[in-house]
Amino acid sequence: MCNHRTCAEITSKGGRGVATVIYLNHTQHGLVFGLGKERGGQYANQYSVCAGSMDPQDGCCYITTSMRELKEELGITLTLSQFDQHFRNKFGKIRYFMIRKTAVFLGRFDGLSRATIKRNITNHNQFYQLPPCFHEISDYEIFRADGTHPEATVTGNRVVTYYPVSSFALECLRMASGRVDLW
Ligand SMILES: [Zn+2]
Repeated sequence: MCNHRTCAEITSKGGRGVATVIYLNHTQHGLVFGLGKERGGQYANQYSVCAGSMDPQDGCCYITTSMRELKEELGITLTLSQFDQHFRNKFGKIRYFMIRKTAVFLGRFDGLSRATIKRNITNHNQFYQLPPCFHEISDYEIFRADGTHPEATVTGNRVVTYYPVSSFALECLRMASGRVDLW
């Protein structure tokens, strides 16, 4: 068991799963959220939030689970103090909310480049010796709070490039958009 106040709070709320939403202040598009495209499972071929259940190796720490999922799914490697920098709000509290029994962490990653994350994902998928948990994601894109892609092309009233977002991610983005402190 860890000694994070946040984790104790989540335990008292009956937290089971962990999801992590990352957002940034994009130079052209303002507030956007980063989502990874799932290869399989419930949300196959849809863009969704980094999510999973706690492993025994996480030592009952929700923050450790969040950090592990960020590394496996998006190739974002953080130390605990780096996690703090991205996830603590101006009042010093780790940003998170509950959706049913899932603790959803909310981290700000200004300057995080899409190309970097796409490259991480490609590297993971080419490196077949990695365990399967590193191979769950096939792509990464940015989305507005309403789940639309800022660069989706529309011809007439037909969306040509379509980026499907999972129902769970839409729920997370709706909750998250009221809790970011960008401006
Ligand atoms: Zn913890």
